[in-house]
Amino acid sequence: MGEVGVEGEGTVKMSWNMSRCGRGFGVAATAIVAGACLAAIVQEPAHAQGRGGRGGGPQTVPTQEQWVASAEAQRRVATAMTLAGSDLVPQAESFCTATGPLRLALARQAAGLPPIENYTIEPTRVFDNMYFIGMSSQNAWAITTSDGIILLDTLNSTEEARDVIVPSMEKVGLDPAQIKYIILGHGHPGQSDHTGGALYLQRTYGAKVVMPPLDSALILPAARPDRPLATPDMDAADGQTLTLGDTTVTLVNLPGHTPGSLGVIVPVTQNGTPHTVMTFAATQMPTRASLEQFEHVFEEFARPLKVEAAINFHAGGLQDDFALLETIRNNPTGPNPYLYSPERFDRWMSIVIECGRARLAAMGR
Ligand SMILES: [Zn+2]
Repeated sequence: MGEVGVEGEGTVKMSWNMSRCGRGFGVAATAIVAGACLAAIVQEPAHAQGRGGRGGGPQTVPTQEQWVASAEAQRRVATAMTLAGSDLVPQAESFCTATGPLRLALARQAAGLPPIENYTIEPTRVFDNMYFIGMSSQNAWAITTSDGIILLDTLNSTEEARDVIVPSMEKVGLDPAQIKYIILGHGHPGQSDHTGGALYLQRTYGAKVVMPPLDSALILPAARPDRPLATPDMDAADGQTLTLGDTTVTLVNLPGHTPGSLGVIVPVTQNGTPHTVMTFAATQMPTRASLEQFEHVFEEFARPLKVEAAINFHAGGLQDDFALLETIRNNPTGPNPYLYSPERFDRWMSIVIECGRARLAAMGR
């Protein structure tokens, strides 16, 4: 995408903070994504694409035999378990396997079981300004600001946007016409599970679509005729910020699941108290370059911004979202189970990274 003007949109202001690309590229109120900066996004080899590399093609996770036989991998697993202390043991056990965590649908697929039914989840106000919207197989998140809504991901299709996102938002008192930005965190060629609803919302409400160009370049030519995709209005690059009203989110590149996979760091409040959360497209890091980019994001963004919760777009992908959402619905003002503390989240991040190092070691990378 070249230049995107947002002047003349009242108080809707956007600025890109090109923290990894030289300060000279930051332009308030007008977003210019410079080609020189886009080159800074970590490029992944083609084999890192697809469903976590589990759909065939070159190896992206070690075999069980490689995993068990690698002394370094097992040493790193032991380090991860030490980091887990007494309060992150299930998380470390989930991440420190040959495959890493498998959400329910993929675990069933791997076990040769039939897919489970996809159904609409009760929309849930998880934080004061952030709502879970979506289905059991994939979901979106709505962030409310003083000048409208930022929507993260859009489900599969026009039908799901129209018949799930819109009524779910209305059910929790949100007006879909207030969606100003849609951030698509990643996409897979030939699939539309996160991106398929964007065109409907873009056309119906005039929302501007933001997406990592590495992924949009792959998915747009491969779009299914029955699932037309939105053409992004803006490119996302690592370290950029997007401001709408009183809220600034930070976009970071977490490659591995797909080349462009984004994390979005979001300031939230819980019963009025500020916290910071971060979304993950996924947590695969099948190459040294993707591992180093995860380390960079954790050290340069997540840790300084005191992130303390991991947010996902496939319920069950990182944690038992169904249970967490139910806990919140049953006790909306009680302790929020998504929120670790910054210290605990720091150890969680370190575990995720250490388990990634273990898998690379087992593959001899
Ligand atoms: Zn994906």
